[in-house]
Amino acid sequence: MKRIDADWLNSADTQRVFTVLAAAGHQAFAVGGCVRNTLLGVPVSDIDIATSATPEETTRLARSAGLKAIPTGFEHGTVTLVSGKTAFEVTTFRHDIETDGRRAVVVFTNDIREDARRRDFTMNALYVDAAGGVQDPLNGLPDLLARRVRFIENADARIKEDYLRSLRFFRFHAQYGDPGQGLDADALAAIASNLEGLDSLAGERVGAEMLKLLAANDPAPALAGMFSTGALSAILPGASLQWVAPLVHLEGEAVQPPDPLRRLAALGGLDPTDRLRLSRSDAKKRNQLTDFVSNLTGLSEIAWRHGTSVAWSVILLRQALTEQPLAPNTASLIERAAKAEFPLKARDLLDRLQGPALGAALKRAETAWIKSDFGLDREALLEIALKE
Ligand code: ATP
Ligand code: MG
Repeated sequence: MKRIDADWLNSADTQRVFTVLAAAGHQAFAVGGCVRNTLLGVPVSDIDIATSATPEETTRLARSAGLKAIPTGFEHGTVTLVSGKTAFEVTTFRHDIETDGRRAVVVFTNDIREDARRRDFTMNALYVDAAGGVQDPLNGLPDLLARRVRFIENADARIKEDYLRSLRFFRFHAQYGDPGQGLDADALAAIASNLEGLDSLAGERVGAEMLKLLAANDPAPALAGMFSTGALSAILPGASLQWVAPLVHLEGEAVQPPDPLRRLAALGGLDPTDRLRLSRSDAKKRNQLTDFVSNLTGLSEIAWRHGTSVAWSVILLRQALTEQPLAPNTASLIERAAKAEFPLKARDLLDRLQGPALGAALKRAETAWIKSDFGLDREALLEIALKE
């Protein structure tokens, strides 16, 4: 049996959850992302546990052991247990008996294989026991090690059970797929013939998958697959792939971390705020980038007013869209502008000006200061401010 050894698995908090369930004779396994990521050697974000215990039983056992149990998705079999500082989503082994493409009616089971078959991709159906032993009921390990995202059994059937899986396919390919290998042909065909189902999905589910996809190191190959199947236009009408690869290339040159909203801005098309149910701050960020890319505000002014991260996004997008390389002094220009401090204060002018006249004078001095590339000193600015 293949074994894994990982801090998150060996930690006292995790082991306590296993012990609580095992002591009552139940099976319990960590499953999904935590197992997949550990086997790939990438960081684990959250820990999901699958168990033969019913949600009631899990709750009772956890509480009598002094753990907090929160019924976060009771009818789907999920209870969140808090052990020490960690939250665990504990879900009863289940299979779906009725699906409508968005929600499922589930029944509980104590068969790990049935639990595995209701999941989406072979690489997401790997389990690990408390001692690190890997259980692979559907032979997902070879796919995972080859970085091959494949639907469990029949792609078309899996998608009709839950249309979100079409988007998850591209998301997991972007995060964990082998870009050299291309996307699974059966999956692409099934996604292309089930596009209408995407319309029924709630914005927040679509948005969460798209932002994860766009945060991957290189989302371009997955986006190309999304485009060729028609899924990209179904979610983001008018989106174009053209600028994504040049953007990702420039990000690499500038050693700037991936930013999903910067990539979203590069896709263009209609405003995605509603379809992706973006948070207010995300929508604002995306729209701000879209505006700056097409107006003439200088880079140093952007860096000074909005900080280094917005400035980097704008210059990367501008250079990608115009197919220009980055100027070698970009980093120093941004750093310097973001740190610059306007040397004139309202109080420097208060004895001479008030109200709207004061505001206009400060504005005039500020404009001149920015134009001078932050070179004008306090004396020079005073003179400009006081000149009618
Ligand atoms: P992440 O690192 O993004 O959390 P993850 O694999 O843990 O990745 P989750 O969305 O947290 O992804 O889901 C946990 C597990 O539940 C998945 O690995 C998969 O086995 C199963 N799962 C989640 N969503 C679906 C779905 N829509 N259809 C089928 N199985 C799903
Ligand atoms: Mg997860």
